[in-house]
Amino acid sequence: MTRFEPNLRIPGPTSLPPSVKEAGGRQMINHRGPEFRALLERLQAGMKPYFGTTGEIAILSCAGTGGLEAAIVNTLSPGDRVLGVSIGAFGDRFARIAEAYGASVDRVSAEWGWSAAPDEVRERLGMGEYRAVLLTHNETSTGVMNPIQELAAAIRQAAPEALILVDTVSSLGAVPFDMDGWGIDVVATASQKAWMAAPGLAMVAASERARAAMRTARMPRFYFDLPKHFEAMASGETPWTPAIAVAFQVDEGIRLMNAEGQAAVFARHLACAAATQTGLEALGFELFAEPTHRSKTVTAAWIPDGLDWKAFNGEIKRRDLVLAGGQGKLTGKVFRVGHLGSVTVGEILEAIKTIEAVSLEWGRHVEAGAAVAAAERAAAGAALQPA
Ligand SMILES: *Cc1c(COP(=O)(O)O)cnc(C)c1O
Repeated sequence: MTRFEPNLRIPGPTSLPPSVKEAGGRQMINHRGPEFRALLERLQAGMKPYFGTTGEIAILSCAGTGGLEAAIVNTLSPGDRVLGVSIGAFGDRFARIAEAYGASVDRVSAEWGWSAAPDEVRERLGMGEYRAVLLTHNETSTGVMNPIQELAAAIRQAAPEALILVDTVSSLGAVPFDMDGWGIDVVATASQKAWMAAPGLAMVAASERARAAMRTARMPRFYFDLPKHFEAMASGETPWTPAIAVAFQVDEGIRLMNAEGQAAVFARHLACAAATQTGLEALGFELFAEPTHRSKTVTAAWIPDGLDWKAFNGEIKRRDLVLAGGQGKLTGKVFRVGHLGSVTVGEILEAIKTIEAVSLEWGRHVEAGAAVAAAERAAAGAALQPA
């Protein structure tokens, strides 16, 4: 019997394809045996092309925030000067982790809704000696995607030795990334975002420069000690008992992604983003992010003045569409639509249709059918663009 499931349009956890759900229900295996070793090898091989690295990827059993913590504590020492480039709630969190472990953090903060400006970062780096720069690839709280390649180039120019640590939790697997080519030092992502699996694994890759920094970094660490993880991985293991069920799921998620093809996965995300953004605008919602760096994985829109969002969203939920609210200072001001992982254009059109139906019921000024048609056209147009 198939049970009805709501259209879960939040930016993680994302909904699981049927075969991924099944993978999570499999019998346990010995995590010190050949089956797990083979599984780890498949995860490595499958993820590397999405990270854009030939280096090893540590598999940690924790939320995405654990991956960010690992990036910090393994490469830095208390007192290190760090530039935290923040464009929203997750950029702030990354900086706070560094502060919690004793780094001396200066911040460059963009107005929420905007991406970070490479010139501003370059200028700030010229004003002091920085050990590391913290960046967010996709700021999930505002729906903005930073131009990481440009930012990394600016950082390399102004501070050739600085470590570049990037939060790619809600972007890797959905959009192109080239860690090695762009000169990024540490990259962290998590299983419940574009990887179509349940929460429980963080995946962290480190450059040669970052691996060297780990030998002298003095921040305290034990569970997240990356050299221990890389060492264990050489023999096909993790240092501690891993979240095996989630590893089964990520393995199946990557199998599905490979069957679809990397270019097709990226194109699908572009199409879903275009459909969401065009559809919401056609429904009279103003998007939160400035147009040039809108995210391909999550869209934030202003709650219109005078709209009782709680009641409006209650009706949306009753129709089995689950949207995300605002985070931090945007609580009650914006709502968000996730379009990453196992999302289809059909699911986005369904979501737009539901929001339209509730809008009509609420007496909002929308033309029946127009938003879905516009969204469908936008998706078709986006699919023709190269990723
Ligand atoms: C989801 C997310 C995180 C944190 O993930 P948790 O698994 O909740 O710890 C960090 N950064 C970004 C950009 C995210 O979207």
